[in-house]
Amino acid sequence: NTEETQEWLQQYVDDWVAFYRKHTGDGHVASYIPELKNADPDDLGIVIIGKDGMSVKSGDTEIPFTMQSISKAITFIVACMERGVSYLLQRVDVEPTGEAFNSIMHLEMKQVKKPLNPFNNAGAITVSSILPGDTSNERLEPVFQLLENMLGHRPAMNHDVFKSERDSSTRNRAIGYYLLEVGFLESDLDVTLETYFKQCSIDVTIDDLARIGMILANDGMDPKNDVEIIPRQIARITKVLMLTCGMYDASGKFATYVGIPAKSGVSGGILAAVPPRVRDESMPFTRGCGIGVYGPALGDEGNSVAGIRLLRHIATQWDLSIF
Ligand code: GLN
Repeated sequence: NTEETQEWLQQYVDDWVAFYRKHTGDGHVASYIPELKNADPDDLGIVIIGKDGMSVKSGDTEIPFTMQSISKAITFIVACMERGVSYLLQRVDVEPTGEAFNSIMHLEMKQVKKPLNPFNNAGAITVSSILPGDTSNERLEPVFQLLENMLGHRPAMNHDVFKSERDSSTRNRAIGYYLLEVGFLESDLDVTLETYFKQCSIDVTIDDLARIGMILANDGMDPKNDVEIIPRQIARITKVLMLTCGMYDASGKFATYVGIPAKSGVSGGILAAVPPRVRDESMPFTRGCGIGVYGPALGDEGNSVAGIRLLRHIATQWDLSIF
């Protein structure tokens, strides 16, 4: 009986969110982008949307937050759709770095001929330079279009967060200049950085993230009408990157203890895509689901500390790991 199932699922998830909310104290809200300091560190929320339409929401589900690094998955998808997968993979590799998201270290290694992956800042800024268009708004138009196709509404950019990062990010400027120096950038640096800061400042909710995750889990198809929103090959590569590079230098641990393709951002969001699995039909969401988590208190690696623990708990209880 779906109503009963829905009720016990809700009860479980409410309990788990209440429990892991106590863990937010183990993390800190990001402060290197001044505007992000305004987030409430105690917030925690989750939305799970199943391919079959079932959904569970618990905790702080209504708070909008900026995508930050989660946008790297979206711009990678759009760049692949606009320029072709092989064009992209000639310019950005698909190897984890094992370093922090804003690391520059590997760029200087002689054998490195391109940024190691599109999910660290060097790779993501390179992807922003590959998006077609002369201005940042032109480059982001297909990004907003894809988001609108997935969400059914067009998200807005948070201008305060955009300006805050634009006016403070010496690190990303340094990365940008380095990429320019070694010839990895495809286009004008200033437009590229503006594009990158803007994409990071797109406001979403965890409902939005769960919806995106559900479409990725469903190989890029919208299950409502079987329309292909993201080509299957691109959805697949994106999930590979989420699994291997999505949580930065915590990706190995996340794959071990959670085992779900996921992408985090320093605003505290996590986008997760749970592919269908058939091991145990009695478990919820066996046909696949998307999960959005928000918890702005971050651990050392820049991922939501309570959010990861909550995901680990749910993945263990419901056997969600893809392995
Ligand atoms: N805009 C952020 C930055 O470039 C994104 C980083 C993140 O979310 N990990 O620093």
